Amino acid sequence: MEARIHQTDPPTGCGRWTWWAWCLWLPGCVGFGALLAWVAFEVGHYFAPLLVYPLMIGFVLGAAIVALMRISRMGHRPTAWLAVGFSVAVAVVGQHYLSYRSALDEAQRREEAILHHASVAADDLIVGELAPVSAGLGDYLQRQADEGRTIRSVLGTYTLHGSMVWLSWALDGLLVLLPAVAMVAFGLRRPFCGQCGSWYATRRAGQLDARSAGRLAELFEWPLENAVHGAHFRLMSCDRGCTPTGFSLSWGELPAAGQPGVVWLDDARRNRVVEILDQACKQPRNPGSPPNA
Ligand SMILES: [Zn+2]
Repeated sequence: MEARIHQTDPPTGCGRWTWWAWCLWLPGCVGFGALLAWVAFEVGHYFAPLLVYPLMIGFVLGAAIVALMRISRMGHRPTAWLAVGFSVAVAVVGQHYLSYRSALDEAQRREEAILHHASVAADDLIVGELAPVSAGLGDYLQRQADEGRTIRSVLGTYTLHGSMVWLSWALDGLLVLLPAVAMVAFGLRRPFCGQCGSWYATRRAGQLDARSAGRLAELFEWPLENAVHGAHFRLMSCDRGCTPTGFSLSWGELPAAGQPGVVWLDDARRNRVVEILDQACKQPRNPGSPPNA
């Protein structure tokens, strides 16, 4: 019978605050928010399904922030949340700003066209046709709200006015924020090693036969009956293995009753588990059984 082993404490590492994260990484995320605002504004002329469109923008933004965290090994969680706040604000307000700039350009084009026409036939100039110059983004949005926003949905077409338009814009912003927050919160669930500055990643995974799965289940005092059909294992650690190693066993369709999703192992305990995994690799496998990577 195997001597039983128990898990150690999970890694609690958090990336350190660094100048580069503030001076490069954070502005990079905000820059991506601005780029996304431009893409969303341009695409929105052709395809912008109600409610779904801002959700899509939020998902893309959240996924990009998580990817940037992983690629650049940025593990300082408060900085990550700041990036979410700033980039969502830029992505949402940026679309209104681009709409404002577009309206200004259009007004200028109309004004030039009228002046050109007037130079050809001065008597035709109607001063009242000159487009009013907006006093700024706030003034433009207020005029947009007063003119009304048309909402087309499967339930019908509605036109909102005044404060309801502002409310609909706030809802759009919230629908961008929520998926971005959810994606980043999910991304931050992965442990980060503060010592070598790397995110945890799966280092080894594969399928185990019933005998090896039973040995591991016995080690961790998990129900042995789960192991009769074998198991899928996963080992995860930081780049240099300086903090506890995460280990998980899943039993296919069976619920993992009475066992944690991931157990955390120190060096000695990890070596015991790796020894069993290595022995499982050496055993001849049934033809067609999945490889033990
Ligand atoms: Zn490490």
